[in-house]
Amino acid sequence: MALEFFFTLALYGFVTTIGLILILDPTNIPSFGIKGKLSFDQHDLASVSHDFGGQSQAEPLAVFHPDSAEDIARLVKAVYESTQGLTVSARGHGHSVNGQAQTSNGIVIRMSGSPTKPARINEKLKYVDVWGGDLWINVLNSTLGYGLAPKSWTDYLYLSVGGTLSNAGISGQAFRHGPQISNVYELDVVTGKGELKTCSEKQNSELFYAVLGGLGQFGIITRARIALEPSPQRVRWIRVVYSNFSAFTQDQEYLISLHGQSPDVEKLDYIEGSVVVDHAGLINNWRSSFASPGNVSSLVGVANGGVLYRLEIAKNYQQSNANSVDEEIEALLKRLHYIPATTSTTDLPYVDFLDRVHKGELKLRSQGLWEVPHPWLNLFVPKSRVEEFDKGVFKGILGNHSQGPILIYPINRNKWEKRTSAVTPDDEVFYLVAFLRSALDNGDSSQTLEYLNNQNRQILKFCDDNGIKIKQYLPHYTTQKEWIEHFGDKWSTFYRRKMEFDPKHILATGQGIFYPNF
Ligand code: FAD
Repeated sequence: MALEFFFTLALYGFVTTIGLILILDPTNIPSFGIKGKLSFDQHDLASVSHDFGGQSQAEPLAVFHPDSAEDIARLVKAVYESTQGLTVSARGHGHSVNGQAQTSNGIVIRMSGSPTKPARINEKLKYVDVWGGDLWINVLNSTLGYGLAPKSWTDYLYLSVGGTLSNAGISGQAFRHGPQISNVYELDVVTGKGELKTCSEKQNSELFYAVLGGLGQFGIITRARIALEPSPQRVRWIRVVYSNFSAFTQDQEYLISLHGQSPDVEKLDYIEGSVVVDHAGLINNWRSSFASPGNVSSLVGVANGGVLYRLEIAKNYQQSNANSVDEEIEALLKRLHYIPATTSTTDLPYVDFLDRVHKGELKLRSQGLWEVPHPWLNLFVPKSRVEEFDKGVFKGILGNHSQGPILIYPINRNKWEKRTSAVTPDDEVFYLVAFLRSALDNGDSSQTLEYLNNQNRQILKFCDDNGIKIKQYLPHYTTQKEWIEHFGDKWSTFYRRKMEFDPKHILATGQGIFYPNF
């Protein structure tokens, strides 16, 4: 009741500002012209107060279920014109790990699950227009019927389009197609002033590039036009194991370099990899959809430094070309330097390959291990320093204990548009290193949230002490000084764009970059 009263006062503030005097009771909201639902329901508030990370909790004053992009524009405009210090945070699927989609002094807009326009496909120009809150799994399902699919993915598809485009959106296709933010033609965006704008490379381009990788700071993505390609039917998916880090990374770099070469060279469609410091248990293996040969487990521990590296590659194909796939893969594998007899192969429909991590989610859920704290750390490590990172972190700080999968794969920087807000290291090739760890409270002190967060700090300190200029992906900082360092020479543009598109700093305050400016 007290909360409703407080919010009613706040509402009164912005209502009077926009010249409407009718509303003190939230049930009168339609008088704003807002058709969606502004909810004060305790269950609704609680559902947006936490995220996948499970480390931060913030309850908003209200949750908004929008009816349309125009609806969002009206709400943001009202907040922008109020003098109450309210904020607005778009929430996609809430899969952030540090409260990035939360706010305690404002309204959370529930983008995913809101009733909005269905995806619209243009078969001729090969693109799809989707709602910003749509999940990628739904985008895929809507395009497949036309024999088309987006080109660039995340490993997990239960993330919203707006949520991944606010970061970058990367997976094993990024070396070839670039991140998801390099595969968008056009956006509709509600700015922090409540203006609904269409933007692209040619139209309102400053807003377009600001929003891509912009951590939700410049506007709320309500529509995205995503590039499509003919959808492959099947995928041949192969894993091989290395004990030598140089051989592993040289092979990865060789494989990503093939795409710049002549059309006759065999090429892959997906290249990832992982570090195996600890092979035991579901927590370390939940993302593995198919088994490695038995000898791999026995190799852990006898390997150099007790660490193994698993290369993961895939080739897409149409059923009619099935015969040539074996030959192509065989020719490629002959040029690699992995441990013989560690190959494992599977073959599956394209959708099953793209949706592979969801199977891991179901396994963890069945054992009550999904909704635990996730102190994830994602880093971009420059190629020139990745060997030192291996020695200091994988063979050093981790101490043969991972508490979750550790991904590592190279990405070509030339596939990243420099004008976006996303930041990468300066090297032409850099590695994503993702520590995807789960904290457990089971009496083992090396599995606790505190232990893992402390280890994350040690990893960052190691890089700092040794001058390894990493960039955090899905960044999390607590001071503006750190954010300025993170953006480096992009900071002045980032700041200028913020003043232009969200001058009162009302959007996505959960990122902790800017605070409301009233
Ligand atoms: P939320 O957590 O809801 O929001 C994230 C941020 O974006 C917030 O600041 C929010 O305000 C803002 N935002 C949300 N929607 C919009 C919008 N429409 N317009 C503007 N701003 C908006 N990332 C990868 O790149 N590759 C992966 O393979 C990958 N795998 C993952 C697997 C799992 C299991 C998880 C939990 C995360 C993974 N991620 C991956 C990270 C993920 O891409 C980001 O955390 C992403 O932000 C999550 O999307 P979401 O819809 O849950 O966003």
